[in-house]
Amino acid sequence: MPSLCETCQHLREMVTPKRSRFLLCQLSQTKPDYPRYPPQPVVRCGGYKCADQTESTPAS
Ligand code: SF4
Repeated sequence: MPSLCETCQHLREMVTPKRSRFLLCQLSQTKPDYPRYPPQPVVRCGGYKCADQTESTPAS
């Protein structure tokens, strides 16, 4: 089952030298309700934000 974390802006992938893979939720750094390493797969999450959404920057 795919996890929401895989496509979330808040995800930071951690890979150890032995190729173990951990999914770190960076939202946990500012919101203690979110676990640092959420149990996978995450199928519902109030903090989810799609990584494909690019923020527009104002033209100068
Ligand atoms: S905010 Fe939710 S979906 Fe996004 S990385 Fe954290 S736990 Fe995963």
